[in-house]
Parts: sequence; structure tokens; C-alpha cells
Amino acid sequence: MSLRPTRLRRFFYNPAATAGLFIVIAVTALSAAAPILGLPDPDATSLADRLLPPGSEGHFLGTDELGRDMLSRLIWGTRVSLAVGISATAIAAVIGSLIGIIAAFYGKFLDNFLMRGVDMLMAFPYLLLALAIVAVLGPGLFNALIAISIVNIPFFARNVRGATVSLVRLEYVDAARLSGLGDAKILFGELLPNVLPVIFITISTTVGWMILETAGLSFLGLGAQPPQADLGSMLGNGRRLILQAPHVATLPGLVILVLVIGINLVGDGLRDVLDPYLSSGALVSPRAATEVDRALAKRVRGAAEREGAGAREAAPGAADTAGPEATPTGDAQGSATTGGGAPILSIAELKTWFWTGGAPVHATDGVSIDIPRGTAVGVMGESGSGKSVTALSVLGLVPTPPGRIMEGSIRYNEEELLGSSLEQLQYFRGNRISYVFQNPMTALNPLLPVGEQIAESIRRHQDATNASARARAVELMTAVHIPDAGRRIDAYPHELSGGMRQRVVIAMALANDPDLIIADEPTTALDVTIQAQILQLFDELRDTRGVSLLFISHDFGVISQICERVVVMYAGQVVEVGTVDQIYREPLHPYTRRLMACVPRVGERGREMDAIPGLPPALDALPGGCRFADRCDMAIGACRKAPVDLRKVAGRDVRCIRAEEQHASHQARLTKPEPQKDGAS
Ligand code: ADP
Ligand code: MG
Repeated sequence: MSLRPTRLRRFFYNPAATAGLFIVIAVTALSAAAPILGLPDPDATSLADRLLPPGSEGHFLGTDELGRDMLSRLIWGTRVSLAVGISATAIAAVIGSLIGIIAAFYGKFLDNFLMRGVDMLMAFPYLLLALAIVAVLGPGLFNALIAISIVNIPFFARNVRGATVSLVRLEYVDAARLSGLGDAKILFGELLPNVLPVIFITISTTVGWMILETAGLSFLGLGAQPPQADLGSMLGNGRRLILQAPHVATLPGLVILVLVIGINLVGDGLRDVLDPYLSSGALVSPRAATEVDRALAKRVRGAAEREGAGAREAAPGAADTAGPEATPTGDAQGSATTGGGAPILSIAELKTWFWTGGAPVHATDGVSIDIPRGTAVGVMGESGSGKSVTALSVLGLVPTPPGRIMEGSIRYNEEELLGSSLEQLQYFRGNRISYVFQNPMTALNPLLPVGEQIAESIRRHQDATNASARARAVELMTAVHIPDAGRRIDAYPHELSGGMRQRVVIAMALANDPDLIIADEPTTALDVTIQAQILQLFDELRDTRGVSLLFISHDFGVISQICERVVVMYAGQVVEVGTVDQIYREPLHPYTRRLMACVPRVGERGREMDAIPGLPPALDALPGGCRFADRCDMAIGACRKAPVDLRKVAGRDVRCIRAEEQHASHQARLTKPEPQKDGAS
């Protein structure tokens, strides 16, 4: 699958870059075509026609102080400037990248030697350095080219070294070495292709500079020598005549301006498209909360206020735990296990989409999940089905850009969270609702002792003294069964094992006695025995603290250990919801059935555990009918005709038009005795 068409499309989606490309192509084409345009000789002087203004007969853009045709000189001069700028870039790119990649690959002495040399080059202001080099080599266009190339080598060397260093330590380089590849093959066959985007990005952002620098040297009379002209030397000549005949200086100045702006716009556009971090929106610093579509926010807030006013008066019991003002200390122990009544969290018809240019990615597309107070609800589904985006949407943690909540409602204790202010969200974050993420290494700050991090999350929401926060941290660490908590409190994350780190993260999640913990694959990064211990811990916390859980996992085995209910997600939608028992005994959606087929069952050793064939649909190009149809062994024509709704079948919700059939055949199988498969046992 090639990324090329979408990248190209994304580039043209950027109007500035498109305009830049248009300018660059126009200027380049014009200067490349100089010999066939039938222009007058750019160096032919004619003193009789000195300093004619633009628009004169036979000289469209006038003439300079020697009567030479300005249009012709501009086009030929642009040709020279472009040629020098581009060659200098090519030279700097090749030499600089070589230095960078070799320094990173060999490290140690060679790295030191090369990079300190580069540092020395960088220590001089670059134009001064270029001047010094030209002074040594003598003036002339070729020497200017060499000077500009040398001055720009460090930019390439540094960028490429940085990119390579992070690659050299990766396993695939070890694998290449193990397969017997020599250094040169690894350098140019394995590493270079991976740093090419970095090189292209650096090129695209420095070409403009190089053309300016060349012009600068020529302007000072150190580059192009008469009668040859480039844009810089034309500007230099015209400078003396600026009052008498302004067009002689302003025209080349204008061309430089337009050309460099064009090149830089293209460069920025290319960088956005080529850099995977930029195009995924990672470097665009996300807002503090996910953006909620304006119209939706207005509608939702309006509705919440209207009914909120009535509801609180009518039901004072519900109001107890509803507002931020109601539980300022975060002590919700008593109310958390009441059971029944309104769900603690109610997600309804949530649509969180990603706008990455092109069609929006429908990461969650009408997801509804209720978590009754005091229960644990599992969310299951393949990677990419929208589980994390659903969880992150609750407290507005989906990065914007590119994410935006387009539709739906998220109610915590009957209070609408969508469209609430950042302040309100921050009250809920980590206080009433806390998160436990998959990877405990990245969830902890590596530079702070773990106890400090727990204490910090206590202090953020409660006014505790340092000493009391620390004491509470020890308490929490003991509660999550970290042995010798009093001593471990000063340990740094890297000094703890994965399981211990995840316990620390859970302790942080508990710090403010939340009502709800959202755990996103909290055990996936751990090995099986540790996983079992952590699951036990979650189960225990439910009993002792009465927290509700939204527990995400791709593994039914894990979910069945602590959850009462399971929500199965596929391609941004809920496809089946039921109790753990229902889903285990009789999965009705073909997708759930395939997922369950991957769960080992007691007494069924020989059962095949096949993967689900095919891939989920692209979330920015979804089919009109059932999203699972293409991978489904039960799909019929009707499945592809229209979107399938969630329906109640056999006591649970399922999104399949053949669910009744499925249920009936299951019932039939139950009443008929199971045919004996093999007589061996
Ligand atoms: P999972 O079910 O594995 O947790 P996610 O909820 O993380 O899946 O992601 C669902 C889909 O949302 C992904 O397949 C991806 O297409 C899209 N997505 C998630 N995060 C981003 C992002 N930051 N930018 C663009 N698309 C994203
Ligand atoms: Mg996920």
C-alpha cells in the first residue's frame, strides 16, 4: 500500500504550499527556457539606451546603466542564482549527510572528531565564514558556491546524525548485522533510506537560504563577476542607482523575494507531509482539551442546563454527588456503592473524528456505553477499533488537532462533560475520574521519584501539606501491595519492575479517591503472572473502594476476570453489548464470535484458534452497510445495503441482521445432544 497519493493530496490540501509550488515551477521553467525564448543578449551593452524605464519600446522591463535588457538579464540571472543555490544545496546535503550518518554509526572517537569539526563551523556567523572562505579562495561564482556549501554542511550533519543515532540502536540494525551485512551495506542499504525524509526536509528548508546567501555574496561583489549576472550582483549594481532608476535594483530584489518565499512555502509544505510526527499532529502542540464541535457544545450545554436546574431540585440525592462543589475533598467513599439509579458514566452516540486533511477518520462513530455505579464494564476489540479514543474522549484527552468531538453526550453522574470549560474538566481529571494507561514506563516521569509523583497528584486536588501528602503516598503504595513502600517511595521509575511501576500508576489513579477508573489495556505490557496480580488488585479495589471501572482490553480472558459487562467494538462502533456470561456462552455478532474463538476454553484443547481473516475497513472510507461484512462468513447481500443498527436480541444488544437466526441455531444446538467428535477419549 503506497502512501504516495495521499501524501500528494495532503500537500495540495495546503493552499500556501500549492501557491509556492506554482511560483517555483513558473520561475524555474522560465529560467530553464531562457535560451529558447528569443531574448536579447543579456550582456549586450548599448550606451544609447541607458536606464530606460520599464515599458519602453523593445525593452519590456527597461534597461540598466549599460543599456542591457533587464528582462533578459533577470531571466538569465535567475538561472544562475537557481543553479548555484541548488548545486550548493546538493553538495552540502551529500557531504553533510555523509558526515552525520558516519558519525552516528561509528560513534565514539570518529563521532567526536567529526561533530566537533562541525561545531567549529557552526561557531562562526555563517555569512562571515562564507566571506572568509571567499577571501581565501578569491572572488567568483564558483568559489561562492564552495563557500555556501561549506557553510551549510553543519545543518545537514547535525540533523542527519540526530536521526541516525535513534536508528542505530534499533533491533533491525542488529538483525542486519547478524545476517552478515557489511558496514557499507548497513549504512547505505538500511540506515540511509530511513533518514532520507530528514535529508529532504532539511534540503527543502535550506534551498531558499542558500539562494539568499549566494545573492548576498554576489551583492558584495564576491560572487558573480561582470559581465555575468546573477540576481545578487544585479541588486548590487542597481543599489547605486536606486534614486535615479529604481527599477534596476527593485526588479531583481522582487524576483529574489518571490522565489525564496515560493521555495520556503514548498519546503514547509513538504516538511509537513514528509515528517510523520508533524503529519500525525504530534508536534502541533495539542490543546488542553479536545475540541468539541461548536454547534454540539451549544446544544448539549443548553440541554444540560435546562434539565439540570429541574433535576437537582427534584432529586436532592442525585445532586449530592453531581456537582464539583458537592464533593470538594474528593471523599466519595460512601456514595460509590449505592448501586442502581443513574449510571456513573454514560457515553451516548459519541462521534470523535480526526481531521488530518482529506476525509475525516471516524475513530468513534456513534458509540454508547453505560457504566452503572459500582460496576466494571469491559471494552473489547481489535487494535484500531476506537477503544482508546472512546476512553480519552471522556475527559477531553484526545489531541486537537487533529481530533474533534462531533456528536454525542458524555454524562458523569448525570452531568454533561462535553462542552464544559477546561477548569471543570481539570476538576474531574485525576480526581473524580482517573486513568491507568498501558505502558507504565511512559506514564511516569522518569526524573522524579515515584512517591513524589503520587504526592503531586494528591496536592493537585487536595490541600495537603508535603508531609501529609507523602504519608498518604506511602499508604496508597501499601494499598496497591508495593512491598516496603516506605523505602520504595524514593525510588525512580527505572529502578522498579514493570509490575511495580504499574502499581505506582494505579496508586496515582487512586490518590484522590476517584469514583471511576478508566484503565486502557493496563496489563498488556506486563507478563502473564504479573498481569494476574494486577487484575487481582483491580478486583480488590472494586470491593474495598467501590470504584467503578471502564476496562479496555483486546483480551476477553482478562475482561471476564473483573468485568460484569462487555462492550465489543469494531471499526468505531459498538457491535455487541452483554454480560460477560452472555458473551461467553453465546456471542451473537459474528465478529464477537471470531474474537471469542481466540479465547482458550477449559476442556477444548484441540480447538483451532484462528485469526480473523482480512483487515478492518479504513476509518476514513467506511462501507455503506455493515462494517464487518467483508470479513464475515455469514454476510449476505442485505448486509451491504444499509447501515445496521444495534438491536435487542436474546437479552443483549447486537448489531447484526442475522442475530435471531444465530440465536435460534444456538438454541437448537443446546437442546440437541452434542454429537461425539472423536472416540479417542
Ligand atoms: P484502539 O481500539 O486500538 O485503542 P484507538 O482508539 O487508539 O484504537 O484508535 C482508533 C483509530 O483512531 C485508529 O485506527 C486511528 O485511525 C485513529 N486515531 C487514533 N489516534 C489518532 C491521532 N492522534 N491522529 C489520527 N488518527 C488517530
Ligand atoms: Mg488503544
